[in-house]
Amino acid sequence: MEYTSLPQALEALEKLQSTMAAYNHAMGVLSQDAATAAPAGSWEGRGRTMEVLTKAAYDLTADPQNGVLYDYLQAHVWELTPIQARELEVLKKDYDRMRRIPAREYVDYSVLLNDADAAWHKAKPANDFAAFAPYLEKIVACCRKFAGYYNPDLDPYDALLNEYEEGMNQKTLDAFFAQLRGTIVPLVEKISRKPQIDDSFLMRHYPVERQRSFSDYLMETMGIDRNYCGIAETEHPFTNNFNNHDVRITTHYYENNLVSSMYSVIHEGGHALYELGADDCYNYTVLSGGVSMGIHESQSRFYENIIGRSRAFVHAIFPYIQSHFPEQLTGVTEEMFYRAVNKSQPSLVRTEADELTYCLHVMVRYEIEKALIAGTLEVKDVPQRWNELYKEYLGVDVPNDKEGCLQDSHWSGGGIGYFPSYALGSAYGAQMLDRMEKDLGDVFGDVARGDLSKVTLWLRRHIHHYASFKKPGELFREVCGEFDAKYYTDYLTRKFTELYDL
Ligand code: ZN
Repeated sequence: MEYTSLPQALEALEKLQSTMAAYNHAMGVLSQDAATAAPAGSWEGRGRTMEVLTKAAYDLTADPQNGVLYDYLQAHVWELTPIQARELEVLKKDYDRMRRIPAREYVDYSVLLNDADAAWHKAKPANDFAAFAPYLEKIVACCRKFAGYYNPDLDPYDALLNEYEEGMNQKTLDAFFAQLRGTIVPLVEKISRKPQIDDSFLMRHYPVERQRSFSDYLMETMGIDRNYCGIAETEHPFTNNFNNHDVRITTHYYENNLVSSMYSVIHEGGHALYELGADDCYNYTVLSGGVSMGIHESQSRFYENIIGRSRAFVHAIFPYIQSHFPEQLTGVTEEMFYRAVNKSQPSLVRTEADELTYCLHVMVRYEIEKALIAGTLEVKDVPQRWNELYKEYLGVDVPNDKEGCLQDSHWSGGGIGYFPSYALGSAYGAQMLDRMEKDLGDVFGDVARGDLSKVTLWLRRHIHHYASFKKPGELFREVCGEFDAKYYTDYLTRKFTELYDL
């Protein structure tokens, strides 16, 4: 079909995007259900449905008719609004990329990921890397091949990194991580020679039911509108978003750990605020949702660490915490609580790591991914390499694969190239704080009164509001100027020097 007028083409563009959004919504609800409510044995039927929907979504995206539509709109690009022009840019990129992936390979890959996810869920508790290895081998092979489809001009791992953070590459990350290590490793070393912080009271018995109402309190304090944001329980916390009026966060409660779920809720709540803060105009279009994983993690880790682990925030919420868990926190002061939630100690598990050592965990994964994709490391040697790197970077001995290379779900979901986003996001957040304080003055005075509205409003105005309208690099530069990891290393140095009296 040929297009004869701009209104006709724009109508087709809108219809196409709302159909795509509907497929994404349906598949998103299925995966949300899989992780939260579906019984363990239901994966096969869901896999079949996913296969059908994935194929339909592929056909919709790669439909040659779209090429005709995009060419027509490209010829009239000067008559488009900036939003329409950006929609066209994103759609064309997806189309070109999808056209390079053979349909059969695309669907087979989604089936592989569904099987790999089930295999990982069994292999991790059983501490059985050998059972998961064949799936990881296939995933690495697919990622290497797909990298060529995503962007044939880039080095394969750079192409994968670009899937999560447009414009990112190994050259930038190598320098970024070297800079982080140069700051973090000496700090960790100095802290190890200081008296250690007592956080044992955080590991007392905290009934799950009480922790659930604590989550409600935290979401309320963060200003999350529960009419548009649900919370569920999963093995590994994450956030799912369907539009700016339907976001789901998840957490995991441990009876003998108060802070694991507390900081999961604040972290995922940060992701949720980003999604909830998007302008309505981006709903049901390709510009819906956060623009990149790095920017997304900048929001979640901003609330989790920069706000959530600040003295001001602890001051604001400690009276509630103490009245909510009176027996568990007898004799615990606000200062003791603040120090305990900031205790730094090299450990085995990334999701439980403290703010200072966290990025070292990310670096281990980055080195392994790089080597897997370059073909210099074989899957069977991953456990050994993992353990060597943990010893080298964190100084810890990894006792088993369950707490070692099987701990994260990312690789089983095909997420090779994702991990660096966590470290980038942390660094972006520190630079955003600097900008925010230049604009607003001392924001922590408000935070100490439990008022996060100014912080959230600033982030909404500069980041959330745009959804995916601006590219991540452009969005960041317009708010903060050139990215510089020094804001983050200075922030960490300041905070941990004060905390441990270094
Ligand atoms: Zn996150």
